[in-house]
Amino acid sequence: TKHVAVLTSGGDAPGMNACIRAIVLSCERAGYRVSGFLRGYNGLLEPDRITLTAERMHNLIQQGGTILHSARCERFCEEDGLKLAARHLNEAEVDTLIVIGGDGSFHGAHALKAHWQGQIIGLPGTIDNDVDGTDATIGYYTAIETAVNSIDKVRDTADAFDRVFVVEVMGRHAGFLGLSAALASASDFVIVPELFSEAQATLAQIRQQIMQRQQRRGPVSYVIVLSEHVWPGGVTRLCEEVSDITGLEARPVTLGHVQRGGSPVSQDRILAVKLGTHAVSLVGKDVTDIMVGISSGAVVNVPLQTTWQKQKTLGEDARATALCLMNQRYQD
Ligand code: ATP
Repeated sequence: TKHVAVLTSGGDAPGMNACIRAIVLSCERAGYRVSGFLRGYNGLLEPDRITLTAERMHNLIQQGGTILHSARCERFCEEDGLKLAARHLNEAEVDTLIVIGGDGSFHGAHALKAHWQGQIIGLPGTIDNDVDGTDATIGYYTAIETAVNSIDKVRDTADAFDRVFVVEVMGRHAGFLGLSAALASASDFVIVPELFSEAQATLAQIRQQIMQRQQRRGPVSYVIVLSEHVWPGGVTRLCEEVSDITGLEARPVTLGHVQRGGSPVSQDRILAVKLGTHAVSLVGKDVTDIMVGISSGAVVNVPLQTTWQKQKTLGEDARATALCLMNQRYQD
């Protein structure tokens, strides 16, 4: 019988548990043994492995986080680490290793290929949606929902006090989470890596919009969504600069790690089940070093390398959508 092992690596994301569950249940149905390595690639090095059973999967689909825990692992980036991992996989007689993680984790999985003969399959799990070769990643939809719920609340207090708020959201170096959260919360302005070019011009735009609204309607509230790693000096600096040019107090809100937690929304659960069951259907087939993703509604296999060779960024329509968002409140 086949032995399938699964691990979760890199930034944790809601829906990773739903994916583990789908893998374990599919393996049981196929008659495969299934285990989990703990704390990402660390579990391969120590080694630290647990047996996963269908009973353990009860009540799991809705739980955030990952029962296998996640972590970064520097030693896995070195050759001796990869060789040690290969030895432990062989000792445990693992046939297929399924890695749920982001593009960094896929780099690792691909590097392992040079030292281990078993089958390697990656599944995209990250709130950033920054993995090329798949339209969506497990955790992305939940993170949007979490950010939107928080921004709605910020909006309430912003309106009550006629204040300016800058809300910083995650996303690594991509604007998927930032733009989606801004659109769904009808924020007033959005700053994401793909659409940002120059700080002074952006500040001038913000100032002009706030001034126009003040002239028309008196005191205003204004919510800006800012992607992490974009603004020189960060969210606090942006608030200072907005205050300087408008004379209004601007408050920073950093959503931070709340975006990584929480019960997964249905879309993430469904995606996790689709990708997890498909991965198990590939066990023993002549396909390895791949990621299973979703493209135009269909489950696809792509070589792991495609997931990081090109930086995945917002589509062509992003600028027009963002402009619509930024203008909407000035035409009322
Ligand atoms: P997220 O983007 O959500 O944080 P990620 O999977 O991209 O997820 P990373 O921290 O980039 O997260 O990578 C996770 C782990 O993958 C690293 O800690 C390391 O163990 C492994 N890894 C990354 N790059 C390599 C590489 N070039 N060779 C071997 N292992 C790697």
